[in-house]
Amino acid sequence: ELDFATGVAKWSDESCRIYGLSPEDNMHSFKSWLSFIHPDDRQRVIGEIQEAEKTGSGTSIKHRIVRPDGSIRYILSESRPEFGPDGRPVGVYGTAHDVTENTVLEQSLQASYKELETFIYRVSHDLRGPLASIQGLVRVSVLDVKDETALKHIGMIGDLAMKLDGLLTKLVHIMSVRDKKTTNDPVDVVQMVEGILSSLKFIDHFGNIKFSVNSNVKEMRTDSEALRSVLLNLVENAIKYHDYSRKMPFIDINIHRNGSPNVSIEISDNGQGIDEEVKDKVFDMFYRGTTSSKGTGLGLFIVKSTVEKLGGTITLESAKGKGSRFRLSIPVSD
Ligand code: ADP
Repeated sequence: ELDFATGVAKWSDESCRIYGLSPEDNMHSFKSWLSFIHPDDRQRVIGEIQEAEKTGSGTSIKHRIVRPDGSIRYILSESRPEFGPDGRPVGVYGTAHDVTENTVLEQSLQASYKELETFIYRVSHDLRGPLASIQGLVRVSVLDVKDETALKHIGMIGDLAMKLDGLLTKLVHIMSVRDKKTTNDPVDVVQMVEGILSSLKFIDHFGNIKFSVNSNVKEMRTDSEALRSVLLNLVENAIKYHDYSRKMPFIDINIHRNGSPNVSIEISDNGQGIDEEVKDKVFDMFYRGTTSSKGTGLGLFIVKSTVEKLGGTITLESAKGKGSRFRLSIPVSD
């Protein structure tokens, strides 16, 4: 507790222990406290305290200290101002929380995560070269080989190579979504949806579905490439997992903005639907809901990561045998 009138800060036994001091060494000043702070963190700490003084708010600062024996600890220092009866600040009280173990673990986790990311990125990239050669050889072999059985096998190799290529493309895409800075472009969202529908025209059963697009949003500002990839994935899934035994298979796309800073985009279908039990799993990496899925199980994982990168949310309402509705809420800047 620091008393502004006397300039004396009284430290608890535990604070003394954290700072490597004996419990008797418990009377300090703001200046003596600053002398414990790691020289590389000191300026930042002073800056944050000055900022908090201006607004009369508290602080929550993570910084390093150097103990008298030279050891370094990570501390979370939190403080609140104390005010006198006339509303003027009379002191500060606060806590010191030794967060060294957590911080060291966090740092090593982040380092491993970075390594894993680099590994996936490199492997996906490096495998694509030989894979492209295999695909090229498959195309050439189809022209040269006459034997029926061999041709069938070559066709199968071609299909598998294509599937692997799809998987690698998606892995590279996941990494680039994480690393890329988002842009802020004007998007005519109806035009974007229509473009997506026309790019999906050649998918099986496209012609059997009745699409309707409703919107009260003319233009929104967001990362257009990211939004396009999200909508493309969701619409493609709605087509892939439709129920073509229905009399009137439909996909509705509703885009609305009702005064809020977010635009809501709903993609609803009356397709196969998703079981309540697996509803939360569909956004997991590599999750495939049905054995009939020929996909990679990465689509909705990419969708969710991208939506979060845009600062938005995605929710799913679905009932098995009835249909699904994916609801996006995307913040837009005007
Ligand atoms: P993939 O399509 O490659 O299997 P996704 O991550 O895109 O992977 O989707 C995960 C699972 O969610 C799918 O395997 C499917 O079972 C289910 N799913 C996704 N979209 C729909 C939908 N519109 N209707 C029914 N099931 C869906």
